[in-house]
Order: sequence, then structure tokens, then C-alpha cells
Amino acid sequence: MAPSDDHPEVTGEAIVSEAEKRPISTIVFIIAMQTEALPLVNRFQLSEDVESVFPKGVPWVRYHGFYKDLHINIIWPGKDPVLGVDSVGTISASLVTYASILALQPDLIINAGTAGGFKAKGACIGDVFLASEVAFHDRRIPIPVFDLYGVGLRQALSTPNLMGEINLKVGRLSTGDSLDTSPHDEASIVANDATIKDMEGAAVAYVADLLKVPAVFVKAITDIVDGDKPTTEEFLHNLAEVTAALDETVAKLIEFISGKSLSDL
Ligand code: SAH
Repeated sequence: MAPSDDHPEVTGEAIVSEAEKRPISTIVFIIAMQTEALPLVNRFQLSEDVESVFPKGVPWVRYHGFYKDLHINIIWPGKDPVLGVDSVGTISASLVTYASILALQPDLIINAGTAGGFKAKGACIGDVFLASEVAFHDRRIPIPVFDLYGVGLRQALSTPNLMGEINLKVGRLSTGDSLDTSPHDEASIVANDATIKDMEGAAVAYVADLLKVPAVFVKAITDIVDGDKPTTEEFLHNLAEVTAALDETVAKLIEFISGKSLSDL
């Protein structure tokens, strides 16, 4: 039934569209690596939580503060308590996304970070992409329907106005828990029609979708997966410079989002 003009709150759809028209106020960034997070923490002068909103003892870190009318939260899963390296990958990303949504009730999730790119699909080092869809490439379950569950394809929030305003490349993102690309992964990435590859996006999308929070994925390319340089070397070589490009893009994104509603994006 179409909602009546007098009582737009009568249907579930109308309630959703009311929420979409409210100005966005709370944003949660999920950022896997400290090197990716710190330029943004400094730019927006965010402060680290003294009293954590997360369970006692977890390494997850929240930086937060205000920019104009936006409450900006950057969530970094922190260092592995035993090994001392960034807690990259899908498990930590899912956990922090879940905990952040429960604690902070964001209007929008932004998963920002670095990614590998496929030159055959038009990706270059330093490009910043907005993912149109996200899926997994390392959850192969060759049983009808479980195969689709494994791939876990999800749509990013559609942002046509944002695309018109900020010059970003668009492509599908494929997620897996390895930095390298096995032949099996490669076949699945091709099947996913992905242009970019990371270790968190589809996991963040899964949790955001479960809890009905819209999500966007901003990924800057540190390495070319179908190139001739070893991924790790290329990743480390480009990390600082590409992180600066990511920071610039996110700043434009925040400027654009400020004062707007979800439906304005
Ligand atoms: N060697 C790095 C390890 C980081 S893992 C270090 O010394 O800290 C790579 C991180 O960057 C993940 O968060 C992942 O999402 C992203 N990433 C960049 N390039 C990638 C690629 N080619 N494949 C998968 N993830 C990539």
C-alpha cells in the first residue's frame, strides 16, 4: 500500500525513507591499519577514547570528535595482543563493525583502506575507488545455494550525487583473508568481476547488512595484483603515499556528506 500524504509514518517503507531524509549525524569509519587511520585522526583532530566503549581487554581503538555537524568515529581493530601487528582481515573487521554499531548506532559506515588493484580492469597505483558491490573470494562452497552464501555479494550504498561531485573510480571489491592471491582466489575474483581486492570489505558489508546500517567502501590502490612486482614489496613501497591520497579523498567525502541525508548522497 502506498503511504498516504497525511500519514507518511504508516508503512515500514515510509519510516525508512524518513530516516534517509534526516541529516547524517554519526559516522563510523572501519580502518584496518594504524598507518591508514592516523592521517585522518590528525586531520579531524580526533581523540582516542579514555573510557573504551568496547569490552575490557580488547585491542580495538576508537578515535572520535566532531567536524561541523558530524560525529566522526574512527575504529581501528588495534594491534594483535600477542604479535603486535595490525589486526587486519575479516575476523577483526567483523567484530569491530558489530561492536561499533551496537555502541554508537551510526547512520553510515565507511570502510576506508588500501587495496590491491587489477590493471586489466583499469586500476592504477594511487587510484581511489568507491566499491559498487563487495563479495568474498576465499569462501568456496560448491553446493547449490551455499556457493552464493560463500560469495556473500552485497551492494554498497548507492551514492550517485557523491559520484558526480568527487572524482572516484568505481568497481567491484573482492575480499579474502590473504594478502597474496592463490590461483583459486584469482578464479573467484574473476568470477566476482572485481577490480579491487582487500581483506576486510565484504566482512564489514555482511555485518552492516545484518544490522541494517548503510555502508560505503573507499579503497586506495597500493599494489597491482596482475602486475609483475611482488605484492608485499609494492604494498610497503607505496603505503605512505597512497595513504595520503586516501586521506585527501576521505576529507572531500566528509565535506560532501556534512549537512546531507542518506538520500542526498
Ligand atoms: N605487510 C603489511 C600487512 C598488511 S595486510 C604490513 O606490513 O603491515 C594488507 C592490508 O592492506 C589489509 O588491510 C588489506 O585490506 C589491504 N590490502 C592492500 N593490498 C592488498 C592486496 N593486494 N590484497 C589484499 N589486501 C590488500
